Amino acid sequence: MHDLTLCVKRPEVSHDGFASLATPTYRASTIVFESAEAYANRSKRGPDGYTYGLHGTPTSRTLEASITALEQGLRTVLVPSGQAAITVVFLSVLMPGDTVLIPDSAYPPVAGFCENYLKPRGIAFSVYDPMIGAGIADLIDDTVKLIWTESPGSTTMEVQDIPAIVAAAKARGILTGCDNTWATPLYFKPLAHDMDFSSMALTKYVGGHSDLLMGSIAVKDIALHKKLKDTMRMIGMGVSPDDCALALRGMETMGVRLAHSGRVALNFAKRMAERVPAELVLHPALPGAAGHAEFERDFAGASGVFSLVIPPHAEAALPALLTAAQTFSIGASWGGTHSLLAPMTITRATDLAAHTGTILRINVGLEDESDLWADLEPIVDAVAKAPAAAKSA
Ligand SMILES: *Cc1c(COP(=O)(O)O)cnc(C)c1O
Repeated sequence: MHDLTLCVKRPEVSHDGFASLATPTYRASTIVFESAEAYANRSKRGPDGYTYGLHGTPTSRTLEASITALEQGLRTVLVPSGQAAITVVFLSVLMPGDTVLIPDSAYPPVAGFCENYLKPRGIAFSVYDPMIGAGIADLIDDTVKLIWTESPGSTTMEVQDIPAIVAAAKARGILTGCDNTWATPLYFKPLAHDMDFSSMALTKYVGGHSDLLMGSIAVKDIALHKKLKDTMRMIGMGVSPDDCALALRGMETMGVRLAHSGRVALNFAKRMAERVPAELVLHPALPGAAGHAEFERDFAGASGVFSLVIPPHAEAALPALLTAAQTFSIGASWGGTHSLLAPMTITRATDLAAHTGTILRINVGLEDESDLWADLEPIVDAVAKAPAAAKSA
């Protein structure tokens, strides 16, 4: 071979005796075939075969298989974000004329997608109270094809009665899905509760280091896996093997990160609940929290994100207290090693929600516990202080 060819073609090297604990990062757009016949028959390889880099490499398949095992599912697909994990489910199973039910506590862009993307295309949605439980049956008509859940809910932290919702859905042959980002399959397994889809923002705890964006959808039905893969192929959606390698690395430490963050977060929540009216601390493991009984019944643990309701009298003080924090950073997208504070403005479609206004979402990372509490204490003091109006009354 001539030099220019040698620059392009790679010599074979031995892999004999090479055994690494790391998953290789296989990058590919093109997949090559050993014969013209194999190339002609490539579509027969099916959703599990290798045909094009966008549709999977051994690196992405390793991450998929790892998540499938944790979720106790049959297959997992990987998408570019946690939001995409939700939208790909909706796009795969909903047709014009159908309705999807979403909880009022869902990650806010879910309602935005329903209102601004699905609705103009003839797919309806209806927002329900996350604490509805078996009462969801009353919302089911012949157009409802999917019930979405998120437990606990974003920022407001309501734990849903998943078994009751699944039972109502099964009775009518309706698909169910759960955004399982907060608990991860270490603490809750939606598929084991007979749900059809379990989605996660791998961006959060699986990635675990605030440096990647990815989502997963696990299923236990091979036909649903094909539906998801078909949608992704038609839209042209896939993930980078480099990001998959980061997610695989993150998953190796997820158990200890979650155990630590969960312990410290619950400790903080308990300390707060002693200082401020207990109903202002939104943590599912606290007695009195919305869905606390369901949490105790269905979950194996709590992760490191919870919320503090900021009453009107403390709102003015909050920006300066957040800016003054030394160890916490201000930002959304939790689940990494850095602790975060995110003031969230909550609006509700249903009038049943207990809390609207400003809610401070707290993500506990891996820094020293006393350094973190030093940042939180002045905020707790501001909330605990009696409102001025009450004092003069
Ligand atoms: C962050 C988050 C998402 C979206 O994940 P991205 O990767 O940022 O798109 C979805 N659901 C929940 C519960 C989240 O916290």
